[in-house]
Amino acid sequence: MSPIELNKRQDKILQIVKENGPITGEQIAERLNLTRATLRPDLAILTMAGFLDARPRVGYFYSGKKTMASVTESMLNLKVKDFQSVPVVVSENMTVYDAIVHMFLEDVGTLFVVDQKSFLQGVLSRKDLLRTSIGTQNLSQIPVHIIMTRMPNIVFCKKTDSLIVAAKKLIDRQVDSLPVVNEKEDGFEIVGRITKTNITKAFISLAETHDL
Ligand code: ADP
Repeated sequence: MSPIELNKRQDKILQIVKENGPITGEQIAERLNLTRATLRPDLAILTMAGFLDARPRVGYFYSGKKTMASVTESMLNLKVKDFQSVPVVVSENMTVYDAIVHMFLEDVGTLFVVDQKSFLQGVLSRKDLLRTSIGTQNLSQIPVHIIMTRMPNIVFCKKTDSLIVAAKKLIDRQVDSLPVVNEKEDGFEIVGRITKTNITKAFISLAETHDL
């Protein structure tokens, strides 16, 4: 289920009830210069979706508790494919020097390394490149496959995975980025990238959807 999108009028009703509840349907209608009958479908939607509670002879009030339940539900429904970024890949034979330049030009913190068939072979982080730069003079002669973290040690996710599962992998494995992969017969094709920034964006989208 995707998060419910409220229309402008429903947003206004929610605001009025938040500030003035409990408030009767009649009073809400008055504030909006509309008739009670016009508002009836909107009030029904807001009540059914759990944003509002209605009590006979008291009126409508804002239901914080149910909204929390719907936040949890929306959170569990966030998918990797809805938040992933474009992956930046380099070839195994690219030099460390060129990989550093590439990282700056593409403005990413992690590069994924692929073989000739474009299958995932390795991961290069900022610190991998820094570590090599401190210890070595000839960055233009070392290919990245010497210093990368390689398969099968790479943690990845799939685009249909729940974003929470990907977030947990980032934290548990203490890495900044996961390749999003599509499993083929003889390797993993890279179709996306999930970083801590994507997770932060998802967090903000939840707050916005639920008017938190
Ligand atoms: P940084 O080193 O810039 O802090 P990371 O925390 O992402 O960035 O990387 C730490 C180490 O983990 C690096 O050696 C990197 O190659 C490796 N690494 C990064 N992402 C992954 C991943 N998805 N799977 C396995 N290893 C990874």
